[in-house]
Amino acid sequence: EDGEEEQAVAAVSLAQVKHIILILSGKGGVGKSSVTIQTALSLCIMGYKVGVLDIDLTGPSLPRMFGLEGKSIFQGADGWMPVKVDTNAEASLSVMSLGFLLGDRGNSVVWRGPKKTAMIKQFIKDVYWGELDYLLIDTPPGTSDEHISIAENLRYAEPDGALVVTTPQSVATSDVKKELNFCKKVNLNVLGIIENMSGFICPYCAECTNIFSSGGGERLAKEFEVPYLGNIPIDPKFVELIENQKTEEKTLTELYEASPIYQIFKDI
Ligand code: ADP
Repeated sequence: EDGEEEQAVAAVSLAQVKHIILILSGKGGVGKSSVTIQTALSLCIMGYKVGVLDIDLTGPSLPRMFGLEGKSIFQGADGWMPVKVDTNAEASLSVMSLGFLLGDRGNSVVWRGPKKTAMIKQFIKDVYWGELDYLLIDTPPGTSDEHISIAENLRYAEPDGALVVTTPQSVATSDVKKELNFCKKVNLNVLGIIENMSGFICPYCAECTNIFSSGGGERLAKEFEVPYLGNIPIDPKFVELIENQKTEEKTLTELYEASPIYQIFKDI
């Protein structure tokens, strides 16, 4: 039957991947991709082999953030080969993104449902990651049909769970709750909630001001009985670092040192 064959395919492409983590957010622009890149670099510098799969079809931004724009992907004997990021860490970091197929910055995808579903399936099953400690999957915002196909395609690979990114404002809306309910529905373990853009670090005096009310992410975590991992303030210096898309050793080390996510992870 079809199911068995699919199981076999998934088993090959993800067989040597130890942990799979999805990064989710209720809506766009809350920092899902920034959290993905910080998590990837933090894990990589901790010595883990990391892969990042960008299936945010609404606007893949990871090639730009990793400084990998314009790279092409090759089809190897075992599947598509992800692009290696040149870090100064010993462990490898590789990235696969729809952005590599779309070419120029600014292109976004206006495909119909079936084509999106086919693309997601291909991205999950046809990328040859080799041996990985962590595969991080940057998903589209919200809880669309695309999420259902992601969950279905990953079923046999048994993902560890999801990091849910939110902002103080979107905690107030129902977006994040929808996301958390979605995780329940598809049996996806929530590894934790991260509140991004929580307060503003003043570039002049380095003091953190809470522009919007804070603590919402934490309350939500309690309500849904999932871990609260911590908050990341709005930091103009950090944006510069991420958006400058430099990949020299110095910048990646800076990125890692500047990364609030690393501060969160090193205590877990
Ligand atoms: P998403 O993936 O949820 O659409 P992004 O990660 O692309 O969001 O972030 C949206 C924008 O906000 C980017 O320009 C990013 O650099 C910026 N950003 C994200 N997190 C922070 C932060 N903690 N401080 C300042 N800017 C941030």
